[in-house]
Amino acid sequence: MIKNKSVIITGSTSGIGLGIAQFFSKKGAKICINGFIDNSSIEQILNQLKTLGADAVMYHAADMTQPTEIEDLVNSVNSKFSSVDILINNAGIQYVSPIENFPADMYEKIIQINMSSSFYASKAAIPIMKRNNWGRIINIASAHGVVASPFKSAYVMAKHGILGLTKTLALETAQFGITANAICPGYVLTPLVEGQIKDTARARGISENEVIQNVMLANQPTKKFVKIEEVAEMAGYLASSKANSVTGSSFPLDGGWTAH
Ligand code: NAD
Repeated sequence: MIKNKSVIITGSTSGIGLGIAQFFSKKGAKICINGFIDNSSIEQILNQLKTLGADAVMYHAADMTQPTEIEDLVNSVNSKFSSVDILINNAGIQYVSPIENFPADMYEKIIQINMSSSFYASKAAIPIMKRNNWGRIINIASAHGVVASPFKSAYVMAKHGILGLTKTLALETAQFGITANAICPGYVLTPLVEGQIKDTARARGISENEVIQNVMLANQPTKKFVKIEEVAEMAGYLASSKANSVTGSSFPLDGGWTAH
């Protein structure tokens, strides 16, 4: 089912996106990675994905703040792989600050990368998926798509917005063999979270260890970070034929956080 499918994963040069790219490579898909990284590391990642079993690989440097570059990403993949079957909107950044000090440029960037990029990528991919009468859109949202935390106003806004987009896309595409769903992870230990530990420590005036124990994992009843592989497995399920009837939904993967 996933073998030979053409998969775009935005923001996949590290963390969850890279883990998803590795997962879909093992299934024999055609993979396009995207994100910021130096040239030698791009080659390294592409070679690794081929070794894992990817049917074909490519990199596109689209900056997720730029709608025209996002459109070019989707069209380039369609030209090179003859299709866009699975779109995984994953690129995201974080900034932690009380709202009164939140820099306007960081607010705009978070909204562009974490929310608007999914709109533009879906807008470009859906006509291709409709022509094929098949498609999967998987949005990597967050537990912060469902609940809030202080000092993350822009991120929480963007992730709540992603769930609204997911539902709307599902309704617009339901009769074309296309599904749209969101995954809402709790804390996953990735470079994004490592940066956040530092920022939160600064914003709250506490140590990094206190941030992990008393802020992050305090919310997560399992007291464990979610694993990247767990997010990738859920994306794999949503992309599979077993999930043909699953659309417009969001799936917590948060160690019980949003059960509070
Ligand atoms: P990460 O920092 O490891 O990876 C982010 C990726 O996005 C990188 O490849 C980076 O190059 C790319 N990126 C950043 N700005 C970009 C831009 N302008 N254009 C193109 N690519 C850009 O982060 P992660 O933790 O793997 O996060 C991935 C997604 O998962 C994000 O949407 C994040 O909000 C979400 N998420 C993460 C967690 C967590 O705890 N790590 C929890 C819930 C949701």
